[in-house]
Amino acid sequence: MSVIYDKVAFIGLGLIASSMFWAGQRAGVVGHATGFARTQQTRTTARDIGLCDDIRDTLIETVLDADLIVLAVPVGAMKAVAQQIAPHLKSGCTVTDVGSVKREVIDAVAPYLPETVHFVPGHPLAGTEHSGPEAGFATLFDNRWCLLVPNGAASDAVERLGRYWRALGANVDMMDADHHDRVLAVTSHCPHLIAYTMVGVADDLRRVTDSEVIKYSAAGFRDFTRIAASDPTMWRDVFLSNKDATLEILGRFTEELFALQRAIRTGDGDHLHDYFSRTRAIRRGIIDAGQDTEAPDFGRRKD
Ligand code: NAP
Repeated sequence: MSVIYDKVAFIGLGLIASSMFWAGQRAGVVGHATGFARTQQTRTTARDIGLCDDIRDTLIETVLDADLIVLAVPVGAMKAVAQQIAPHLKSGCTVTDVGSVKREVIDAVAPYLPETVHFVPGHPLAGTEHSGPEAGFATLFDNRWCLLVPNGAASDAVERLGRYWRALGANVDMMDADHHDRVLAVTSHCPHLIAYTMVGVADDLRRVTDSEVIKYSAAGFRDFTRIAASDPTMWRDVFLSNKDATLEILGRFTEELFALQRAIRTGDGDHLHDYFSRTRAIRRGIIDAGQDTEAPDFGRRKD
């Protein structure tokens, strides 16, 4: 495949940026990659594992001359990063982000970017519960969706970013920011909150059950603990910045939970059976859409 961007700058060197780097290496679509993370420790780790062609010690050095700048920091850190890099961006470059929430990121970042820069927000729907530069691997985005929010950007900049994501292995779709936040509240944000809650409840009951919760943890609870091991900073920022959509979906969730609670109390087996039949069909739809595969390997892979 031929080079799509001569110079890419990754701000934030965690799971997502490192996976993007390795996937870009695999595809051969990036000429030169620079990277920056907040702490010296992360920058040293990145250098040690060969992440990016060049790890820089300041944000500004990292973005100078870049054709594509990827903001891969927690959602709450996007504004400060945009403010600092804005005066140093090359005219005609593209800025994108990978944040899990889109409206708040656009509101935080767009006001600082000069008109000569294309801003095309994005969100790859792929991840693991692991964080940091060593968590990334080249196949993370294979056959996963990456949603781009054109947000009025020039169509050739959007098309080029889409081509880059497809080269990283993803399927690309366009979506409006508010719609994205609503869809993700249902498919990702609220499920994470429910997992955090369930693991918290189990922890509260630990003294009653001794260590049995851990010893006999069957698949359901084990899956919850995996989800609830996700990065606390990232998820704090997701809920604080997608407040309206998450609260709306949680309201609906609570209503449904009460209805199920009532069915259990009143012995309404038909209600429970109908409900579980409906949800089983949803699972089948996910399998048919090829979106049920686990991330194959959480280790670092270059190819
Ligand atoms: P991560 O593994 O926790 O890494 C975050 C990176 O951001 C670290 O390198 C950290 O540097 C850096 N960072 C934090 N604050 C910074 C700042 N103010 N300036 C510069 N660098 C800063 O995170 P991730 O999982 O890759 O997530 C990154 C973004 O992708 C988030 O916005 C998240 O919402 C989104 N996302 C995550 C997933 C997922 O499943 N993980 C999926 C899709 C999208 P230090 O290590 O030096 O602190």
